[in-house]
Amino acid sequence: MQRLLNKLNQEIADYFTSEDFHSAPDISQKFLREILSTYDFQKGQSRIKVFEDVVSMMKKWSLNVTSPNYLGLFNPSVTLDSIIAESLVALYNPQLAVWEHSPIACEIERHVLNFIGDHIYNEQDFYSCFTTGGSEANMTAMLVGLTHKVADFTSSGLVKRNHQPVIYVSNHAHHSFEKIAKSVGLGEQSIRRISTNDKFQLNIRALESQYQKDVDSGSLPIMVVGTAGTTSFGSIDPLKKLAEFCRQNDLWYHVDAAWGGAARISSSLRNFLTGIEYANSVTVDAHKWFSVGMGAGMFFTRHVNPIKEVFSVKADYMPDSIHEDVFEPYLSTILWSRRFIGLKLFMTLAQSGSEGIAQRIEHQVEMGDYLKQLLADSGWEIVNSTPLPVVCFTHKKIKSGEKTTSEILGEIKREGKYWISDIHYSGTNRAFRACITSFKTQKHHIEKIVSDLTDKIS
Ligand SMILES: *Cc1c(COP(=O)(O)O)cnc(C)c1O
Repeated sequence: MQRLLNKLNQEIADYFTSEDFHSAPDISQKFLREILSTYDFQKGQSRIKVFEDVVSMMKKWSLNVTSPNYLGLFNPSVTLDSIIAESLVALYNPQLAVWEHSPIACEIERHVLNFIGDHIYNEQDFYSCFTTGGSEANMTAMLVGLTHKVADFTSSGLVKRNHQPVIYVSNHAHHSFEKIAKSVGLGEQSIRRISTNDKFQLNIRALESQYQKDVDSGSLPIMVVGTAGTTSFGSIDPLKKLAEFCRQNDLWYHVDAAWGGAARISSSLRNFLTGIEYANSVTVDAHKWFSVGMGAGMFFTRHVNPIKEVFSVKADYMPDSIHEDVFEPYLSTILWSRRFIGLKLFMTLAQSGSEGIAQRIEHQVEMGDYLKQLLADSGWEIVNSTPLPVVCFTHKKIKSGEKTTSEILGEIKREGKYWISDIHYSGTNRAFRACITSFKTQKHHIEKIVSDLTDKIS
């Protein structure tokens, strides 16, 4: 056991400080399945051997998202505190369904959520919980919005309704909303994708006119979603104007700040999200810009009653609450058995302080600005506009059809030195998308990447 743990420690130390990037090579499912078929599970084998084999497979055949050269989707480099917290959670395996089973874990989560929620709402009057991610938090918002707006939703659901409930999101909102609409029985048709302006932000005029059409045709508008940090462009919807629109029309206002929400921690960035404090509910992922491991989202709402209504059940095998003021997790969230999700954020906050977290985020914003500047200086054309570090860019040779983003991305993938992606930005036009998502990314990484891209296009 000691030998194995030493190996694990060494692995953590090495991987944590490594600057190497490895991309997932072009391999087939067939190839990997053949390799895995050597594990037929008939006889057990040495732990050390299994450990070494798994480490080697993970390194060879997985995209290394914690590298400073991964300028990808919102997957972060993780803090050491997050890694340690995950180990402790694995070790003690606390059950957070009921407070009585894990009082300290429940209270640690509460303490962290109160701290983050205070930065979102500027006050302490809210309900919050950890979720498995942004999708679960967005789904919670949808359920709570429906409970709030649709009479008897929690008793008779959506069957035999005369009015089709509708949800408004922008063209560039996250596609979890379609999935949620299908899952909760609303159907995809209930999602109204509203057009965006030239900064890829939801267009309020278009929202107003779609809303009027829906009201006139007898639909039942439920909720408007503002996104603070869209996946493709990092754009922030006009959060304050959306709040005003929702207030005037008595609609549930949800802000999906899965990635961008962490900016509220920084005193220099928080005002980019002004208006979020009016939201009826908010999604923020810890496993994005807070740099902790996967499986950590957060949900915040100002309204506790619909939460109780939608999630409470009676189960006589569960222990009674021992304290009246305890809001049992299994009665106030989608999950029943619950992992101790919040410890990695607690330990990260405790070690770095919110100032340390703010500095990491501000550093990434600075690197985003640097990337933008360098690209522009090297003849690239920036197509998006956001204070957050997502940079979308194209080139006259791409616009003229002389080169395509996919052939260049193919080369980048084959060489495996860094990672970026591409997006549609208007009609059939494609642009590259590079997001600073690692606190390890420094100027010299960016300089190499821009110079390589510029070589590839010329
Ligand atoms: C990542 C993301 C989601 C989905 O969250 P998961 O944690 O991946 O489930 C939803 N909305 C936005 C804006 C996101 O960036």
